[in-house]
Amino acid sequence: MRTERTWTPEETAWLVQIGHRLPLEDICEALGRSEESVKCKAKRMRLYGRNVGPLRKTGTIACICKSCGRSRYRFSRNGICSICNEHAKIQRCEARMSDALRDLPQSLRSVYMETEAKRESKAPTMPNRQDRRAMEEWELVCLRRQYNAAKKRLQRMREHAGTNPILKQFRKNEYSVNPKEN
Ligand SMILES: [Zn+2]
Repeated sequence: MRTERTWTPEETAWLVQIGHRLPLEDICEALGRSEESVKCKAKRMRLYGRNVGPLRKTGTIACICKSCGRSRYRFSRNGICSICNEHAKIQRCEARMSDALRDLPQSLRSVYMETEAKRESKAPTMPNRQDRRAMEEWELVCLRRQYNAAKKRLQRMREHAGTNPILKQFRKNEYSVNPKEN
């Protein structure tokens, strides 16, 4: 028998506040849990008088995001809409980029500054504005592309500056292991 990991209070709260508006598949994806696990939890919660709506196969009910105040369909585990989360990720990445920029040699820094303006990639076709669900998905796709581009850029900068944390760790280990072997 497979043992499911214990439900945290955060996951339970999320299921009550946000999860139940989503189709079952999305709940499973957001929590990284199986359908059985989610269904079982919802059933148990109902038994204890918690208000968990019926789990649906399709369709999402829109809900107001407490961060941006907009009516949204997609939410992350922290209860904030996926679009707000994506914006926050991009912001964090850009903050790291400006740090990485400082670590670059002057000559490379100007190259990166120059290309900064040109990094827009072609966005996917915008859907009908009236279709709010599709618009939200579209916005999310655009933001994810932007984030991935920023991430790649940060990686390149760190490689150039020799400050990639993973590489640094790797070199350190290499250095500390080799002398003992000799
Ligand atoms: Zn939001």
